[in-house]
Amino acid sequence: MIKPYVLAPGSKIGILGGGQLGKMTALAAAGLGYKTSIFCPDPDSPAFICCDHALIAEYDDETALKMFADQVDVITFEFENIPLKSAEFLSQYRPLYPAAHILKITQHRLYEKDFLNQINIPTTLYISIKNDEDINNARSFTGFPAILKSARMGYDGKGQISVQDYSDLKKAWDQLGQVESILEAKVNFLCEISVIVARNIHGQIECFEPVENIHKHHILYETRVPASISDDLKKQSLVIAEKIAQELKLIGVLAIEMFVVEDQLLVNELAPRPHNSGHWTLDASYTSQFEQLVRAICGLPLGSPKRHSNAVMINLLGDDIKKWQSFLQDPTIKLHIYGKTEPKPGRKMGHITKVFPLEK
Ligand code: AMP
Repeated sequence: MIKPYVLAPGSKIGILGGGQLGKMTALAAAGLGYKTSIFCPDPDSPAFICCDHALIAEYDDETALKMFADQVDVITFEFENIPLKSAEFLSQYRPLYPAAHILKITQHRLYEKDFLNQINIPTTLYISIKNDEDINNARSFTGFPAILKSARMGYDGKGQISVQDYSDLKKAWDQLGQVESILEAKVNFLCEISVIVARNIHGQIECFEPVENIHKHHILYETRVPASISDDLKKQSLVIAEKIAQELKLIGVLAIEMFVVEDQLLVNELAPRPHNSGHWTLDASYTSQFEQLVRAICGLPLGSPKRHSNAVMINLLGDDIKKWQSFLQDPTIKLHIYGKTEPKPGRKMGHITKVFPLEK
């Protein structure tokens, strides 16, 4: 029998990445009595305010990575674009959750969509574009109008270009710098939803319910819970999330973004970390997504993902943060400020969650 793995409070969690997700994970870890060490190249990282130890170094600096591993008992990350090689390097010394094989899939839009289709989870129609021959073959692609996305390093709409028809494709690919890309049919969705699933070291799985997401300029603007979708779609979304977690042998949390197209769900993207669309869980759920991550990787039982209030979460992008005092006038609004230095346009500076009583 495998000895159950439990890291007791007082142990140290290493977090790669020092943004708001790292900060909120460190706060949840502290709430359960864990220490944290945060590794990030940016000396102004918001997460440094609330960790036990900060390590400022580049993600591919193996000397610094080894020092980091030596300091901690388990390692996680708050964004999925850390170099795969660094994740594999760290895994030699300490458990890294979610594991490097999950990062490999989720860092690459084509691997991700291929994986989903292999396990019979529907996605939008897509093809790979990596050379002139692929561009030629795309003549027979039936998914126009489409979106060309770079396979790697894309988030919040970065590295994405709309392609109306075949004649636009070559120019769009040139604009992306001819990098390995995916051409996806543009989906006419009714709405966008996401589910966050957690799986711990012992295989226990819990899902937060699906939430509805509204994007502006490809960046998440608002999350509403409960989502205004049918019970049947809610069930389908949870089945999909559990299946993905099982197939990946996830340890940690994973967000799954989906498009609602009539009575069907298409999976758009996976993120193996806490997710912006899960911020509502801090204020309206028995367990937050950040606490769930800590529980999952430390081998604790997962907490209840049930919502105790309804909620609307709104991101404070760029100068929105300047209105912070006005949000405090409403005592049912929870204000979260990340502590970033410069409010650049579109930059996630904080969020508010308005909580409402559950409907009877
Ligand atoms: P992504 O970076 O793939 O999460 O895309 C960001 C946002 O762009 C999504 O949340 C959608 O609002 C939109 N989007 C991405 N892919 C598609 C698609 N194939 N069809 C329609 N809208 C899309």
